[in-house]
Amino acid sequence: MSFSSDVKEELCRIPRERSCCVASELAALVHTSANVGWMTGGKAGGRLFVNFSVESLPLGRTIYSLLKVKLHLQPAIHVVEHARFGGRKSCEVRVEGDEAKVLLMTVGAMEEHDPDWKVLRRHMPRPQLSRTCCRRAYLRGVFLGCGSMGAPEKSYQMELAAVDPVIRENVQRVLESADIYARWYERREKQVIYLKEADTIVSVLAMIGAHRAVTDLEAVRIKRQVRSSATRAANCDMHNTEKSMKASAQQLSDIETLEKAGVLSTLPEPLQEMARVRRAYPELSLDEIGIRCRPAVGKSGVNHRLRRLHEAAEQVRGTAADIS
Ligand SMILES: [Zn+2]
Repeated sequence: MSFSSDVKEELCRIPRERSCCVASELAALVHTSANVGWMTGGKAGGRLFVNFSVESLPLGRTIYSLLKVKLHLQPAIHVVEHARFGGRKSCEVRVEGDEAKVLLMTVGAMEEHDPDWKVLRRHMPRPQLSRTCCRRAYLRGVFLGCGSMGAPEKSYQMELAAVDPVIRENVQRVLESADIYARWYERREKQVIYLKEADTIVSVLAMIGAHRAVTDLEAVRIKRQVRSSATRAANCDMHNTEKSMKASAQQLSDIETLEKAGVLSTLPEPLQEMARVRRAYPELSLDEIGIRCRPAVGKSGVNHRLRRLHEAAEQVRGTAADIS
């Protein structure tokens, strides 16, 4: 199961209590997953129908029960197997005739006075837009109908692929009411709103009532943060090791220069000792080298002696350069 379908299943299980919100959610489902039209031919010709077609069976059952229990309609439900798409299944929920009219009036997609029932309105009705509960329900319906999201382990991404610019605007308006300003692009004749930030996705999931998904996403997010800070720490370690190895190589070269020039044995004993210890332990840190001196010296003492060796070596190098 994908994260997306987990979220949808969770959303399907939410109890729907307020009738205003049911209308709003059904409006979104009509806007995103239904085909509205007039039947042609035979006795049924000229009959209005609304046909929901969704890929998820739990969503099909949810639509069915909203229509039946909340709107008291008699929808038909069946599963269709698409031979052309490798046996992919979809769930169809359908109402016809007066029942289709009741549904479309309830969701504000048509008005009773519309003489020919031919103008399908996709704007979100004003009362739905003005109530927070209904805005959330609309967004939930849109996510169920045309939303998807990537597994948060891989990337933070949520998409709402609206089939119609008006629906895309509805969604943007709902998001903007929660201070979320989402961008969109066009893909295969759909207007796809996308969110790419974990914070925003969490807000949207919370708005639509996917609380378990919020918890899951937060858990993944913490894991990812821990992992990336561990990687950062490891990189930092590597960087430090590399730095001290470079420094050590420079010190060894200084010591070699001094020895070849016959200068090393003329230097004060503490510097000669430092050269011996550094050569014996090229991989050790300054602290560890200090401990091996007699008497032991601190890090700054080690640093100081190594610097003096370096200066002496630079002098030798300078003289050598002058002669040649
Ligand atoms: Zn409401």
